[in-house]
Amino acid sequence: MSRLVYDSAHGRMCPRCRKPTAKCRCAEQIAAATRPTGDGIVRVRRELRNGKPVTVVLGLPLRADELAELARKLKQACGSGGTAKDGAVEIQGEHRERVVAALQQAGYTVKLAGG
Ligand SMILES: [Zn+2]
Repeated sequence: MSRLVYDSAHGRMCPRCRKPTAKCRCAEQIAAATRPTGDGIVRVRRELRNGKPVTVVLGLPLRADELAELARKLKQACGSGGTAKDGAVEIQGEHRERVVAALQQAGYTVKLAGG
């Protein structure tokens, strides 16, 4: 699959990746690369609430209803409670690895942040 085969029958070719435009993913890659910070890279960090650890997810490019839906999935994945508010999701307890795995599975670019 890695070998590129030129086929003039495909018509327009992308000058960047030299694939037929139908198979070209350059526009997506460029869009992903040029998205401003905080919109595309999701950060997961541990915080303390009243002395108890919570796993906080920041930078989610979601509307409130989408955020609530994601919070529901993350709570399910972690088997824990949590909330969605102010553009962030909080899951009670230490669940960074599960949260990161679930977010990556959903297609997000995830970074662990802070302690
Ligand atoms: Zn391309």
